Amino acid sequence: MSGPILQVALPSPLRRLFDYRAPGGAHAKDLRPGQRIRVPFGQRQMVGVIASLSDASDVPPARLKRAVELIDLEPLLPETLWQLCCWTASYYQHGLGDTLSCALPTLLRQGEPAIARQDRLWQLLPGAYPEHPAISRAAKQKQAVQLLAKHPHGLSHALTAQWGLSRDTLEALEKKGLVQRISQSHHHTNEPLPLLREPRLTPNSQQVAALDAIKAQSGFTAWLLDGVTGSGKTEIYLQAIEHCLGEGRQVLVLIPEIGLTPQTLERFQRRFSVPVVILHSGLNDRERLDAWVAARDGEAGIVIGTRSAIFTPLARPGLIIVDEEHDLSFKQQEGLRYNARDLAVYRAYLEKTPIILGSATPSLESLYNVRRGRYQHLRLTERAGNAKPPTFQCIDIRSRKLEAGLCRPMIEAIGEHLSKGNQVLVFINRRGFAPTLMCHDCGWMAECTRCDARMTVHQSPPRLHCHHCDSQRPVDTECPKCQSTELRSIGAGTERTEEHLVSCFPEFPVLRIDRESMSRKKAMQDMLARIQTGQPCLLVGTQMLAKGHHFPDVTLVAILDADGGLFSSDFRGPERMAQMITQVAGRAGRAEKPGQVLIQTHMAEHQLLIDLTEHGYATIAQNELNGREKAGLPPCSFIALLRAEANNAAIANEFLESACELAEQLCVDLALEKVDLLGPVASPMERRAGRYRAQLLVQAPHRSALHQLLHHWLISLESHSLGRKVRWSIDVDPLDM
Ligand code: ADP
Ligand code: ZN
Ligand code: ZN
Repeated sequence: MSGPILQVALPSPLRRLFDYRAPGGAHAKDLRPGQRIRVPFGQRQMVGVIASLSDASDVPPARLKRAVELIDLEPLLPETLWQLCCWTASYYQHGLGDTLSCALPTLLRQGEPAIARQDRLWQLLPGAYPEHPAISRAAKQKQAVQLLAKHPHGLSHALTAQWGLSRDTLEALEKKGLVQRISQSHHHTNEPLPLLREPRLTPNSQQVAALDAIKAQSGFTAWLLDGVTGSGKTEIYLQAIEHCLGEGRQVLVLIPEIGLTPQTLERFQRRFSVPVVILHSGLNDRERLDAWVAARDGEAGIVIGTRSAIFTPLARPGLIIVDEEHDLSFKQQEGLRYNARDLAVYRAYLEKTPIILGSATPSLESLYNVRRGRYQHLRLTERAGNAKPPTFQCIDIRSRKLEAGLCRPMIEAIGEHLSKGNQVLVFINRRGFAPTLMCHDCGWMAECTRCDARMTVHQSPPRLHCHHCDSQRPVDTECPKCQSTELRSIGAGTERTEEHLVSCFPEFPVLRIDRESMSRKKAMQDMLARIQTGQPCLLVGTQMLAKGHHFPDVTLVAILDADGGLFSSDFRGPERMAQMITQVAGRAGRAEKPGQVLIQTHMAEHQLLIDLTEHGYATIAQNELNGREKAGLPPCSFIALLRAEANNAAIANEFLESACELAEQLCVDLALEKVDLLGPVASPMERRAGRYRAQLLVQAPHRSALHQLLHHWLISLESHSLGRKVRWSIDVDPLDM
């Protein structure tokens, strides 16, 4: 047969490639891995990516189909990013085709050309200036002219949109003869502009030490920037970015959640004159592709995004930053279960660039990498500027009366801080009105019909809501078991605490911050603006409040329930709880005013709480790490979790039992020692959304043994006879189990 065989990665759950003949008219020399190609698949056509070329195929020649057309003349991704995708697929045991479809913007997946819109650069015409009379009363247009004046070679729509300038604004300027559209080819990447739009802060001595260390290295180095809340980590990012941009390179910044931290984004945009691309969920497919192209072509100096941004190609990568590296949102919890923080480290290695992982509460994984000498430790132990660390105190609530989750001394402390003109943050990690609806006469509790879980009572709008499967129903007025009408909402969530605080402190505004109240676009921004006025007020909210915000006027942080993490069955419970409390506490006293943290607990003498309040997170983290080392738990060993779910528990279990036997046999065949198989056991919440779930844990002291097993194991599992009745998935380095 003539011509090479193309092994094509297609978006399919199967961990395999599909063979095709080269499309008609394509020369062998034009075909390379990484190019997209359109192929026939069943009744339709699909867009795939050439993974490799081969001389032979197992498919009989008569059945080997011909590809329809080659989409890209060049490989779509830079070499390093292609390698990253291939590595991701093999590390997480996921099909390459499906991995690539997670990595690529929708339009590229659909076969669109990998170029941005042709009309995309807006450029100022001679004679346009901000004080031009034609725009004297149009603030947005004036802002657009100011922005374009700083970018003489033009700015793409993707980039003007980042500054909140709509197409209408620019088209209005076009009509007035002040701007024009130019084509991409006129574009130059090196803009003769001062890099900084605002001066940098003068770093303190700890910041200087960290920055000197970072700047002294070139090539790959992983830095763990371990700095207490408010210690000036962001300022270090900014100055490290400045250094990198100064060398003509681009920076990729990963953050946990875009919508929640507009302040951080503004700091990046305010500081630099280079184009900043923000990959947020509000972008439509076209804007996303434009942003992707701006990054790949080197037009964007800084690219900021959440976990999936790790797959954004860069023309001249120079630095990767992962802010709040401990945050769980970097781990994707379905489909391709990758951890963007870990991929970022591998990407930096491939790109030969430094990476900064920053956190006030570093993950034990990263601290362990420091111990093993893989990451360099940079510590900031003091707050920047004049801010002092907050003081901690536990309030023992045993036998104290709680009203809406608050005890009397807590209410009094809140009152005191408010009366001094300060702001107070009340943290309760439970949204809704109450976590339980109970019958006072017979003890019945409202449960979800599809999950092993109770329904949460919500008041606005009134309903029972399952936070696990999202099912909702009206609040019962009568007990279905004994017909009593004495139904009570037990316990407190954000709504109830808010209601109570409003009644206790009618003269102060109470702002609630949880998923419900923040669902409106810009809600967070509006809320932050109110908080920034500095007026005394109460903030009530969930962990959303804990994420990286700067609240200079908050002097008291009230933590209503610290006990959950103390009884957690997950070995990561203590780490999580210490991170959460430290992060929330870190919102207090970030400026001139000293901060206080009060923690309500039933277990005031628990060692973890004592360590936390007396020694802080760093001590707890080291203790926990010692414990994990002794117990052979991650990060000191390696685990993967095989999950299965089915319409009945027996089938899920049967599948896992059989998978377990298969794995045992493979360990013998492959001579893999010390691989432990634990389970199968029912998942922590066995029934969820109507399906029964079970899991099997695989643990090994060395990563290579684990991966060798997984590779062979999954290939057999794909053709397992129960595969049709069971939905199963593999999670490498699982974070919740
Ligand atoms: P982190 O990211 O560690 O929480 P930030 O970078 O947000 O800390 O800094 C906390 C506050 O301290 C910010 O208001 C910031 O402007 C200020 N700050 C940081 N570095 C300095 C410095 N060198 N001099 C003065 N203020 C600083
Ligand atoms: Zn009843
Ligand atoms: Zn449910």
